[in-house]
This record gives sequence, structure tokens and C-alpha cells, in this order.
Amino acid sequence: MTTTLLSPDLRTRVQDAHKMLIGSEWVSAASGATLSVEDPATGQVVAEVPAGDIEDVDRAVAAARAALRGPWSRITPQERGKLIWRLADLIEARAQELAELESLDAGMPIMEARYVDVAFSIDVLRYYAGWPTKITGDTIPVSFPMNFGGPYHAYTVREPVGVVAAIVPWNLPLMMAVKKLAPALATGNTIVVKPAEQTPLSIALLANLVLEAGIPEGVFNYVTGYGETVGAALVEHPGVDKISFTGSGPTGKAIARAATGTLKRVSLELGGKSPNLIFDDADLVKAIPSSALAIFACQGESCVAGSRLYAQRGVYDEVVAGLAERARSIKLGPGLDPSSEMGPLISAEHRDKVLGYIDLGRKEGVDVVTGGGRHGAEGYFVEPTILTNVHARSRLVREEIFGPVLSVIPFDSEDEVLGLANDSEFGLGAGVWTRDLARAHRLSGAIEAGQVWVNCYQAVDAALPFGGYKQSGWGRETCRENLDEFLELKTVVIGL
Ligand code: NAD
Repeated sequence: MTTTLLSPDLRTRVQDAHKMLIGSEWVSAASGATLSVEDPATGQVVAEVPAGDIEDVDRAVAAARAALRGPWSRITPQERGKLIWRLADLIEARAQELAELESLDAGMPIMEARYVDVAFSIDVLRYYAGWPTKITGDTIPVSFPMNFGGPYHAYTVREPVGVVAAIVPWNLPLMMAVKKLAPALATGNTIVVKPAEQTPLSIALLANLVLEAGIPEGVFNYVTGYGETVGAALVEHPGVDKISFTGSGPTGKAIARAATGTLKRVSLELGGKSPNLIFDDADLVKAIPSSALAIFACQGESCVAGSRLYAQRGVYDEVVAGLAERARSIKLGPGLDPSSEMGPLISAEHRDKVLGYIDLGRKEGVDVVTGGGRHGAEGYFVEPTILTNVHARSRLVREEIFGPVLSVIPFDSEDEVLGLANDSEFGLGAGVWTRDLARAHRLSGAIEAGQVWVNCYQAVDAALPFGGYKQSGWGRETCRENLDEFLELKTVVIGL
């Protein structure tokens, strides 16, 4: 069904995605191997891309290392900023095409692809385009009396860390890649990007646009392939200085362990099981639709999905009824169909994993208020699902399901719900809905999460730090502080 929605332009783009970019060359895998990319709305193969391996990673890392010493190292910070801004302009000019690729590949509705994924990618690039001219060191007075050869002039310099490997997941793939690319370029690094095997298409077009923007060859390299081959080779490669990873917790931990071999820097943006708290005094007109979006946007394949909803006893029934009504009204269909409000999950394997959690719930005696099954005969659709009567210790509320499955749990007091909210190995996002200002401040202080949204959910900005507490990750993206993760700090002392 989706193939009929492909514009001729998009068809060409999909066919173009069959090469990797290493230096300035578009190449196949050295082994000649390929992997198939599916349209999750139909299960049909839409592209074959190279299945890279260690040899391809070696070449990409060599190209990125060579580029560190090339013209890229000599252009002025202002020129670097202009190149990043130009890339943002090119993405904006091709925004619809990129959104179509993303929607085809990752399954999300075209409007989410266009106005979340692509739009935020543009914003992130423009935010970081302002930074190259503002990366400075300090002069530092030296007082220690036992030094010989003083007085001294001492200062610090911030230098690029070197070659960055960006390993990205299949949800919001363009945005995930750009969140790594933009700070890497702003700080003068070079980069090798490895997309998830399921979703390389939009990043192939991004690679084209990087060259079109005039960013020197070798600064951006793009290698497709499996995590266990290309991903692992990048993590272990002695020529890579930093890994910037977004993906699942188990992979993140494996990467952290493997990176100790070369002690390269690692930043990790991992999963979550974000609590969303609705108090009796909340404005339900806002809280209910926003909480529905918090779980059902991007089919629930969002790291900050508000997947544990705690509603205070006085509004519990109204919240469940309101959420169920919204869930039932969501129109499922291929992302490329503009009338679709929710797309398919990424793969048959992932769909079955999500359905497996719902089955587990049934065995544990939960009530399936709405949804609970597959939608349609083809593709990987799962109905928006709301579960109640879920036990607080159930795997349903402890593990990341990464699909459109919401557990709604009642609570009585603020202390009780704070304990429930923090009883998690994750700490990515959290929502609080209340008209009580003091409570909003108390809870935003006490909740263990990288971002707390009060009377809103998932509000993000390129200038706001994004990242997780506990097992949701190491480091922060999209903010000033993120730049330090891409920089070395050198101290220079001159005896006067
Ligand atoms: P994943 O961990 O399976 O894969 C992510 C990437 O890692 C892919 O490119 C994959 O090929 C690669 N990979 C797999 N094994 C590897 C290995 N041994 N060495 C190196 N690379 C390897 O994750 P996924 O299923 O693609 O993505 C979903 C997960 O990502 C969810 O847990 C979600 O919460 C998380 N996520 C987090 C954020 C955030 O900002 N915190 C954002 C988006 C997604």
C-alpha cells in the first residue's frame, strides 16, 4: 500500500541510498554485502544498502583522521558556523523530501517527521552554528610558590577531541544523527555516522547535503551496517576518539565496556520509563490530551514516552476515560498517508516484543481498557493500548516497552507518588500536572530525571540540556554544556 504513496522524487532518493560516503567517495561495502531496508507499514523491502564491515570502518576512520589535518583545521570559526548554517538551509529546502524518507523508513506520520524530526534537526544546526566563535579558553593566575621559572603566563585552550563516531537508533534517526553532528562540527571535530540498520535513508540524503554545503571531504563519513559489525568496529577502533551513542541500555552498557579497551570518551543517551503525574487539582483539559500525546506520539517509540501515568484518586476515572477516548480516536495507517495519526512499529520483531508485554499484562490480570492487539493484516501496527489494574512491581511499569502501551495507576498522596515515580532504574523524563506552585517546585526538585515538565510534556529546545539520570545515560545533548563533551581542555604555562 505505501509504495503507491511514494512520489517519483522519493523513489529516486530511496534508490540513491545504496552507497556509503567515505571521504568524498560514494562506495559499496568492501565485501559487496548488502542489507535490506523495509517499509514497516507493509513489510516490503524498499532499499538495499551496503552491509559495511571492519574494512569499511577502517577506511572511514582513516578519512576522518586525515580530514582533521586538512582544510577543516584551517578554516575560521566563523566560516565553520556558516557551513553549519548552510547545511541547515539545505535541510530546510529539502524538508518535505527528508520527512517522506523518514516516514517511509521509520514509520512515523509524515507530520511528525516534518514538524518534529526534520524541524528540530534544522533548529539544532542553527543553534550550534552560533557556537564556533564562542569557544574560548581562560587566562589563569598562577600562585603556587614552589614553581621555578616564574612569573608565568598560563592559559587554557579548547581543542577538538578528534574523530567522533556517532551511533544512532532507528527512532527519529535524522534528528538523532544531527544532535551529534551539529556539536561535533561546531567544535571542529570530524565524524563517522552509523545509522541503525533499519533506518539509513534520511541520513544518506543528509550525507549528500553535507557535501553540497561545502563541508570539506572526510569531515563527515557515513557507514551503514549492523551494530555487531560496523558499530562494534567503531567502538573498538583506536582511531576513534569519542563515541556518541543513542540507543538501548543493553547496547549502551556493551559499548561502555568495549570502549575501555582504548579508553575513548563515551556519551550515552539511553532508554527511559518516564512517569507522568496528574494531581486532583490539574487542568485536565490540558493534561489528558498532552498525556495521550506523551505516550502515543511516534507510536510510543520515544525515549521520553510518558509510559507510566499516575493519576490521583479524585481524577483517576476521568483521566482513564479521557485517555481511552483519545486512544480510540487515533487513526492508524502508513506514515506517508497524510491522514494517518499513528504509524507502524519499526519491525515484526519489535511489534511482537510489544505485544508480548500486553500478553504478560493479561496473564498478570490487568484490565485492557482499550487496544491490546495488532491493527490490520499487513505491516507492524499495534493499537494504542491503555492498561489499568497494573501491579507496581510488574515488568510493565519497570521495563521500557517502546510502543503505544500506557499503564495508568492510581495514587493518594504526594509522598506515595514520588516514591513510585523514583522507583525505576531509569531517569530520563517526567511530567507533573498540578495548579499548586509549591508542589510543582517540590516535585521538580525531588524527581530523579534529566528533564521534568510541569503542566506540559516533551517540550524541548536546542538550547535546553537533554539527557538522563541513572541508567538513562551519560552526558547531555542539545545545550552549551554538550560542547565540552566534544572538546579537550589543554593548559599552557609560559615561564616569563
Ligand atoms: P539499539 O541499542 O538496538 O541500537 C542503536 C544503535 O546501536 C544501532 O545503530 C545499532 O546498529 C547499534 N548497535 C547495536 N549493537 C551494537 C554494538 N554491539 N556496538 C555498537 N553499536 C551497536 O537501540 P534501538 O533499538 O535502535 O533504539 C531504541 C532505543 O534507543 C530505546 O531504548 C530508546 O529509549 C533509546 N533512545 C534514547 C534516546 C535518548 O535521547 N535518550 C533517544 C532515542 C532513542
